[in-house]
Amino acid sequence: MVFFILHSSFFIIMYDINKIREDFPILSREVYGKPLIYLDNGATTQKPRQVVEAITNEYYSVNANVHRGVHFLSQQATELHEASRETVRRFINARSTNEIIFTRGTTESINLLASSFADSQMEAGDEVIVSTMEHHSDIVPWQLQAAKKGIVMKVIPMNDKGELLQDEYKKLFSEKTKLVCVMHVSNVLGTVNPVKEMIAEAHLHGVPVLVDGAQSVPHMKVDVQDLDADFFAFSGHKVYGPTGVGVLYGKEEWLDKLPPYQGGGEMIQSVSFEKTTFNELPFKFEAGTPDYIGTTALAKALDYVSALGMENIEAHEQELTRYAMQRLKQIEGMRIFGEAEHKSSVISFLVGNIHHLDMGTLLDRLGIAVRTGHHCAQPLMIRLGIEGTVRASFGLYNTKEEIDILAAGIERVSRMF
Ligand code: PLP
Repeated sequence: MVFFILHSSFFIIMYDINKIREDFPILSREVYGKPLIYLDNGATTQKPRQVVEAITNEYYSVNANVHRGVHFLSQQATELHEASRETVRRFINARSTNEIIFTRGTTESINLLASSFADSQMEAGDEVIVSTMEHHSDIVPWQLQAAKKGIVMKVIPMNDKGELLQDEYKKLFSEKTKLVCVMHVSNVLGTVNPVKEMIAEAHLHGVPVLVDGAQSVPHMKVDVQDLDADFFAFSGHKVYGPTGVGVLYGKEEWLDKLPPYQGGGEMIQSVSFEKTTFNELPFKFEAGTPDYIGTTALAKALDYVSALGMENIEAHEQELTRYAMQRLKQIEGMRIFGEAEHKSSVISFLVGNIHHLDMGTLLDRLGIAVRTGHHCAQPLMIRLGIEGTVRASFGLYNTKEEIDILAAGIERVSRMF
């Protein structure tokens, strides 16, 4: 008991929500004359001053192309860029910076892997396992490869709570299975999938796994070695970093085997018209000028969340989610999609017969930013038998007061129908 009191007061001191919110100037703006309640963190997160300042500082005082110049600025910019790679490595606990490929985001990371993996490791009739709840980014890149190479997709079904059926998953493996591509956390249901166990199962069959971590990295501590993920993708902008920069992690032994995705500068060792040799890892996969300003800002964002503590962020968001689930369930006609045992800070819902777009538009007029639609997961919508949902997704700076305003807003909109 004593421990609990000490622990919880320590948590309050460490996690000073008012102080945290001051780091995000946008949170104090108004929309339609009302205080902004930003609950669309699944789509993108707001940026703390530290991240924005890292961008302006680098443009104002360091800017030069990386890996190319002997001059001072270029070397300094290169050092910042490579230090950011080390920050990412540490953040997800990869073994080596050779395993950290900078991309434009989760989508590009998955496209890179799908293209390079299918080209070199798959032939007609080979299978990739995905799940019912996948984001289009985890489906369409494989369909593009399927159209070129005749690859087959197998789909893990889920139960009505929004949990993947593990027994069915195990049955999907065959000697043709070459890869599993599964999301860590559902952007619609909030389900935290048991990816560690799913990876262990795939490895029993000698099959590597690509984890889409777009919705896990911002909300929980991720350790790619502990998961034993072969590949792991995430986006900077969903973890309080800038847009246009993301990461593909890959085990070095895999990345060594895979061919480049795009050709151009940076990714080569030597070029002649007869023959080109490729650069070493990680540069083999990074054609052209990288977004070196973006990588510095991403590292700042990762430093920011690390200083708060991913465990503290997760505890805060879990508390918000518990509170919101309880509060929203009191609303008449409320249907919540996604009631998994292990759920992240995403709540998708519909109320009575109110169209998700109507609900979202009217909440917006009250200053509440939520997402509406299919959330780039149309196969999941088909499974749920709906066209779309309203989605509230919480971040590290949201509060219970904001959830109360959301609930009151939903009730007010409901009364109008
Ligand atoms: N995967 C998941 C689970 C997502 O939620 C998203 C974005 O919403 C993506 C992939 C795509 O991320 P990005 O648009 O940053 O590439």
